[in-house]
Amino acid sequence: MKKVLSLVLAVLMLATLLVGCGAKSGLDAIKSSGKLTVYTEAGFAPYEFYYNNEIVGVDMEIMKAVAAKLGVEMTVTDVAFDTIVSGVQAGKANCGAAGMTINDERKESVDFSIPYSSTEQYLIVPAADETMKTVEDLKGKNIGVQEGTTSDFLISDLIADKTLDGTGLTVYKSPAAAAAVIGTKVDAVVTDKLTAEIIVSNNTGLKTFALVKADGTVAQEVEEYGICVAKGNEDLLAVINEVIEGLLKDGTIEKWVTEFSAKATEVGA
Ligand code: GLN
Repeated sequence: MKKVLSLVLAVLMLATLLVGCGAKSGLDAIKSSGKLTVYTEAGFAPYEFYYNNEIVGVDMEIMKAVAAKLGVEMTVTDVAFDTIVSGVQAGKANCGAAGMTINDERKESVDFSIPYSSTEQYLIVPAADETMKTVEDLKGKNIGVQEGTTSDFLISDLIADKTLDGTGLTVYKSPAAAAAVIGTKVDAVVTDKLTAEIIVSNNTGLKTFALVKADGTVAQEVEEYGICVAKGNEDLLAVINEVIEGLLKDGTIEKWVTEFSAKATEVGA
């Protein structure tokens, strides 16, 4: 019996040691590979979008600053938004930087940095439309969203709890792809504020505004964006947080939001 107990103890100690090493070697592995790998979905201006065949945006600048701090290069992969959390969780990329809202469900799979931006949900409708002004007006309409986003969850939940009885939901790869079919395949699109405003300035015949309920309250509480990393990757998270803190303090993130909003409008991203 004693032997079995000490064997169990030895295995437990070894497991603890290995877990500890795993977390530490996260940062070491990045440094020795010379690369900080990032997953994003590059259809979400001003945070990530294509400009001269390159993925640029606020998130990319943040991750470049983190990579510089670590003395490595940033490499970005454009993937479907709804695969970012699972990809980072599985170690396919070191970080997810995708205008990603910090929420409890995602926190079960990944860890988040401190928030660096905030948003609310906006509705995009045809400019001449007078029928869709509030959440309740979306009853029976067909709504487009980006798959796996907080906009997707919000409308799905309202359909499930019957607030939006008879409403159709169609998912797209990016909010811009959803907005491209307003008036043909969908009646309206729900997405984050800045992205909605850029889509509207890049397309004629659309307008956008905050999605509120008929009683004037917001459809969803303010959301905050964070960079996600694999659970327990504390040393990497500490570096990311330190970088974000500095960029927030001196107004750099705000400056990037303005700069990349203008760039996205310039290329119609
Ligand atoms: N902030 C939203 C979310 O996290 C949308 C992000 C996005 O479309 N890239 O779900």
